[in-house]
Amino acid sequence: MPDRYAVFGHPIAHSKSPRIHAEFARQCGQKLVYEAILAPREGFSDAVRNFRNDGGRGCNVTVPFKEEAYSLCTRRTPRAEAAGAVNTLSFQGEDILGDNTDGAGLVRDLTLNLGMGLAGGDILLMGAGGAARGVILPLLECQPARLFIANRTAAKAEALAARFHIHGGGYADLAGKRFDLVINATAASLGGDLPPLPDALFAPGALAYDMMYGRDTPFLAFARECGARTADGLGMLVEQAAEAFFVWRGVRPDTAPVIAALREA
Ligand code: NDP
Repeated sequence: MPDRYAVFGHPIAHSKSPRIHAEFARQCGQKLVYEAILAPREGFSDAVRNFRNDGGRGCNVTVPFKEEAYSLCTRRTPRAEAAGAVNTLSFQGEDILGDNTDGAGLVRDLTLNLGMGLAGGDILLMGAGGAARGVILPLLECQPARLFIANRTAAKAEALAARFHIHGGGYADLAGKRFDLVINATAASLGGDLPPLPDALFAPGALAYDMMYGRDTPFLAFARECGARTADGLGMLVEQAAEAFFVWRGVRPDTAPVIAALREA
C-alpha cells in the first residue's frame, strides 16, 4: 500500500497540491498517494482524525483551517509557533507534529528561483493576516536590514510587528520610505484592489512579489509602472509544497519543472 497524504481545506476543489505532490513523488520515486479532502467548516478535527485512523501519514492544511490545525498539534516546530498557524501535519505514533512551510517556501522562491539577496535589504510586508504571520520569522532569519509590516488596520500591523521586535503601521506610514522587496500578503488582490501605496516605494532594482497567483493583479501592474521587477506566488506555492514533501519524506524534489508546468497550464 502506498503511504497516504492529503490536503484539507474548504473550498478545496481548486487546489493544485495533489498535482504538485504527484509530480514530486514520480520524480523522487516515492510510493505515495495525495488527495484533496473537503472538510466541513465545523468538522476539520474529525476529518483529520478519520484520515489518520485510516492510515494517513500526514497532511497539508489550507484556508480556513490553519489556526485550528495549530491547536490540534501535540508538538510544533519553532516556525509554526512563530506563525501561530500550521500548514503541514505529520502523524508520528501518538504525536501530531505541526509545521509551517509557507515562509520557507517564500524564501526559497525569492532567493533560489528569483535570485533575490535578502541579507541587508529593506523589505516591506503588506498584510497582517495568516499569510503574513507565516513568513515573518523565515524572512528575519535572512537578516534583512529592515522588515516593515504595513496593514489596512494599522493597529494589527503594529501588534504583529511588536511580537517580532520590528516596526509596523498603516499605509500612510510608508511616505518617504523605499524598499528593495515589497511583498503583498494581503487579500486585496483577490478582490482586484490595490492598497494605497506611494509612488516612490520601490528602490532601484526592487522586486514586487504578490503571494496571489494565477492572474495579473493591480499590485503587480502598479509595480511594473513604477519600474519594479515583479513575481507572483506560484513559486511560493510549489516551494512550500516541496518543503512539506521534504518534512515527510526526507528528500527534496526539483521544483523548477513543476513550476514551469503549472505556469504553462
Ligand atoms: P487573511 O484573510 O488572513 O488576511 C487578509 C489580509 O489582507 C489582512 O491583513 C487584511 O487587512 C488585508 N486586506 C484584505 N482586503 C484588503 C484590501 N482591499 N486592501 C488592503 N488590505 C486588505 O488572508 P491570508 O493572509 O490567509 O491570505 C492573503 C493572501 O495570500 C491571499 O491572496 C492568499 O491567496 C495568499 N497566499 C498565498 C500563498 C502561496 O503559497 N502563494 C500561501 C498563503 C496565502 P485588515 O487586517 O485591515 O483586514
